[in-house]
Amino acid sequence: MDVSHLLDELNEAQREAVTADSDHLLVLAGAGSGKTRVLIHRLAWLIQVEHASPLSVLAVTFTNKAAGEMRERAGKLLQVSTRPLWIGTFHGIAHRLLRMHWKEAGLPEEFQILDSEDQQRLLRRIIRDEGMDEAHWPARQAQWFINARKDEGERPQHIDHLDHPATATWVQVYRRYEEYCKRGGLVDFAELLLRAHELWLESPPLLDHYRKRLRHLLVDEFQDTNAIQYAWVRMLAGDTGRVFVVGDDDQSIYGWRGARVENVQHFVRDFPDVRTVRLEQNYRSTGNILQAANALIAHNEARMGKELWTAGPKGAPIRLYAAFNEQDEARFVVDQLRQWLDHGRRADDAAVLYRTTAQSRLFEEYLLRANIPYRVYGGQRFFERTEVKDALAYLRLLHNPNDDAALERVINKPTRAIGEKTVSQLREQARESGLTLWQAAGACVAQGTFATRAGTAVSAFIRLVEGMRDRMQDWALGNQMQGVIDESRLVDHYEKEPRERMETRIENLRELVNAADAFILPQEDADAGLTELQSFLSHAALEAGETQGESWDDCVQLMTMHSAKGLEFPLVFIAGMEDGLFPHQRSLEEASGRLEEERRLCYVGMTRAREQLYLSYAEIRRMHGSENFCRPSRFIDEMPAGLVEEIRPRMATSRPYRSAQPARQRTSSNLTDSSWPFKLGQVVLHPKFGEGTVMAFEGSGEHTRVHVNFRDAGAKWLVLAYANLQAR
Ligand code: ATP
Ligand code: MG
Repeated sequence: MDVSHLLDELNEAQREAVTADSDHLLVLAGAGSGKTRVLIHRLAWLIQVEHASPLSVLAVTFTNKAAGEMRERAGKLLQVSTRPLWIGTFHGIAHRLLRMHWKEAGLPEEFQILDSEDQQRLLRRIIRDEGMDEAHWPARQAQWFINARKDEGERPQHIDHLDHPATATWVQVYRRYEEYCKRGGLVDFAELLLRAHELWLESPPLLDHYRKRLRHLLVDEFQDTNAIQYAWVRMLAGDTGRVFVVGDDDQSIYGWRGARVENVQHFVRDFPDVRTVRLEQNYRSTGNILQAANALIAHNEARMGKELWTAGPKGAPIRLYAAFNEQDEARFVVDQLRQWLDHGRRADDAAVLYRTTAQSRLFEEYLLRANIPYRVYGGQRFFERTEVKDALAYLRLLHNPNDDAALERVINKPTRAIGEKTVSQLREQARESGLTLWQAAGACVAQGTFATRAGTAVSAFIRLVEGMRDRMQDWALGNQMQGVIDESRLVDHYEKEPRERMETRIENLRELVNAADAFILPQEDADAGLTELQSFLSHAALEAGETQGESWDDCVQLMTMHSAKGLEFPLVFIAGMEDGLFPHQRSLEEASGRLEEERRLCYVGMTRAREQLYLSYAEIRRMHGSENFCRPSRFIDEMPAGLVEEIRPRMATSRPYRSAQPARQRTSSNLTDSSWPFKLGQVVLHPKFGEGTVMAFEGSGEHTRVHVNFRDAGAKWLVLAYANLQAR
């Protein structure tokens, strides 16, 4: 058999890992050394050479984006459909298992995923219900407590709290929270993993079935697995599974969320005869970038120790820009991006990385002005925006009125005279009789519990939801989405807000309808028996941030350094290199170890770059409403000076602060009717959607939107500047 396509593009150590005949294997190696490549080639090797059934392979990685890339690359190597392969994130795979085995997992068939914001809202309500002082018992802390316990595999009854009154209180909250989730059929992110683990524990025949089936387990980014994920892998592997893990202790960046880099050592201890392969050659970055990253990470003490080298060219120096404020920083980055594009390079070859999600906003603003398409991963996630969540809450109610989180979110949105008092009464009733809010609402109305006005309002709400359900059940998803937005009169609710914000909200709702319209039930969800609606709602909760309102093929990537893990880009910017921002203030104040984790994060960020790396910091940054003078990040000093070139040498005296004006100011009259490039009714051609008719224009300047009715793809709102429409 010719296996050259599997081995040719590998070095000797990589080949050893791919072809190893041992059952368990650990590849421990630095950034860009080909770990993910090895994992994918191993997967193909198992199928093509060892004749493993594609159904017997499970590959796990950290983000949906990485999972998508892995599937695509495996498909290319195998030249067959990758559909039978289980490739996904731990959360995604756990979700799929729970959907398939909801009964065994003790869940209702219609269970809903509770995202982080909903979870916090629910906890706030529980804390209030328990008569606790929110100032002392913040919901956020409850959330951390519960998620951390779940990540350790602990239910309330497992937590020993005899000596700690505070722990006892949190355990009580945890208990109440579990009751609520159970009643409403709600599952939070940590619960997905814990439930999937319990599913194995409690259903031996099922575990046995999967042990026989999934013989080959491959895990990427193993250094960031937490206790429950590791336990899950161990349990699934049993005595017969073969486990192949790849990781890098220098890239462990989720310690704050319960990840345990020790799992790497545990793996060697817990599995018999683990073969360890180390890779040392880096194929990704230029010599300069690699050398600077190596020097930086050498400042950490807790390391398993390895040094990377490259046979590639030294490349350009790392460029450092000292901006005088955050506006100047954004302007600089966007200018560089413009030049990059002017040189004929692709937008999606460039990434802007930052420490905190809030930093994306300014880059978005400048990119928009420069007409450079971009996409934000994480951060201000489309599916997390208030209006989007409001509309989805109505859709969730159609689907499952017992979804307490959804009901509470919209029962008085738009305002319909159901005040806080009525809602508390509802909660009280629900709590006393162990009902969901929806059931309690029905009961209260029947018993005439409420004052007349409130009673009428609650029954009107019930009728509204029931009416929508009866009418829309069989509608197409996009129509349902539009239907709930119209009938709920959500838009009325936002009309009281400042105009600009209202417009964005309405625009987002439109995008949501578009998203629902364009939604295609993924084959794997169909295989798992999900309906289109279930799949869409789960997708909204699970993959938030990976689905923007519009998706562009070629656009600049904006993301936090955490979400950049495993990815690579020819051009990388790391913005906000300031002490207090990066390393983050918390890491400077908190116990030791956090600063080292920040440094690893910086190492991850730098090693994303293939050709050119830019670092920037602002001397003055506006944060939380005030202006702060900043010190450049200590990480900059930890890179050898000879590798870093300052673009604008810092002045001895600080420049006076000027609030930067937008580069070009356009008034709304700039793009009036006469400047619309098409006439209403004109036929236009879109590169993806094909032919369509121009129906309307809206907005002005760069924000002008055009409504086109496409022959095949239906009606869509597009941003004119990016739509790439041609007259026919
Ligand atoms: P990270 O630690 O960031 O996840 P990694 O170790 O998983 O990195 P890969 O992403 O697999 O590294 O590989 C980095 C780059 O090097 C990719 O572009 C990959 O295609 C390339 N590469 C890996 N091995 C080789 C090789 N033997 N020859 C040529 N290119 C290679
Ligand atoms: Mg990788």
